[in-house]
Amino acid sequence: MAKLMSGESKVLIVTGGSRGIGAATARLAGRQGYRVCVNYFRGASGAEAVAGDIAAGGGKAMAVQADVGNEDDVMRLFGEVDAAFGRLDGLVNNAGISGGHNSVEDITMDILDGVFSTNVFGSFLCGREAIKRMSTERGGEGGAIVNVSSQAASHGGNSLAHYAASKAAIEAFTLGFAREAAASGVRVNAVSPGIIDTDQFNQTSPDQMERHIASIPMGRAGTPQEVADAILWLMSDSASYVNGTVIPVHGGR
Ligand code: NAP
Repeated sequence: MAKLMSGESKVLIVTGGSRGIGAATARLAGRQGYRVCVNYFRGASGAEAVAGDIAAGGGKAMAVQADVGNEDDVMRLFGEVDAAFGRLDGLVNNAGISGGHNSVEDITMDILDGVFSTNVFGSFLCGREAIKRMSTERGGEGGAIVNVSSQAASHGGNSLAHYAASKAAIEAFTLGFAREAAASGVRVNAVSPGIIDTDQFNQTSPDQMERHIASIPMGRAGTPQEVADAILWLMSDSASYVNGTVIPVHGGR
C-alpha cells in the first residue's frame, strides 16, 4: 500500500452506505476529510447521491456496487478502492439486514442464509481484505475497523432471533479480531445501536414502534447521525487506546 503523503487524506470504506446509518457515516467521514468508498447493494442512486454530496463539499468519494455476502464482489470492491485510492485506513462494516420478523418456528434456510451472509460473512470477508491492506506487518500503516452490531445481540429482539444471533456473532467477531489485529496496528471495535430512525426500523408496525419508543428512557429513536458520530469517534485517533469494545448507542436502558 502507498504511504500517506503529507496533506493526503485517509481512505475509508463504508459498507451499506446508500442510506440510513451507513449514508450518515459516509457523509460525516467526507466532512472530516476522509476519501470515502460508499458501498451499496441495490441502491445505486442513494449511494451516488451520498458520494455526490461528499464531492460537493470538496471531498473525494466513489460509489461501488457489491454484495458483501459474495466473496467475488468483496474482492472486486477492495480492488476498485486499491485502484482509485491506492491505500486503506478504515472499514465500517455497516451493511446489514434484519431478515424480517419471523419466529424460530417459521424460520427458513433462505432467511438464515441472507441474514448470516450479509451481516456475519460479509463482515468477515471485508475485515479480511481490510486487514491485509492495513496491517503494519504487511507494509500497511495500521488503521481501524468498526462493526455495526445491535442491541438485539443482548436482548434477543422480538421475533428477530435470527437477526439477534447474527449480531451476537458480530460482537464475538469484534472481540476476537481485535485481539489478533492489535499487533498489526489495527483497532477493531463495534457500535451497538438501539432503535434508530432508518428504513430498517421503519419496517416495524406503528403499534410496535410506539411501544419500543415508550421503552427508551430518552423517549425517542436515535438518528443515523448520532450513530455515525460514535463510529467516526472510534475510527479517530481520539480513540487510540480503545480496542475490542462494543459501544452502546441506545438512549439509555
Ligand atoms: P437500512 O437503512 O435498511 O440500510 C441498510 C444498508 O445496508 C443499505 O445501504 C443497503 O444497501 C445495505 N445492504 C443490505 N444488504 C447488503 C449487501 N448484501 N451488500 C451490501 N450492502 C447491503 O439499515 P440501517 O438501519 O441504516 O442499518 C445499518 C446497520 O445498523 C445494519 O447493520 C443494522 O443491522 C444496524 N442496526 C440498525 C438499527 C436500527 O434501528 N435502524 C439498530 C441496530 C443496528 P442498498 O440500499 O444499496 O441495497
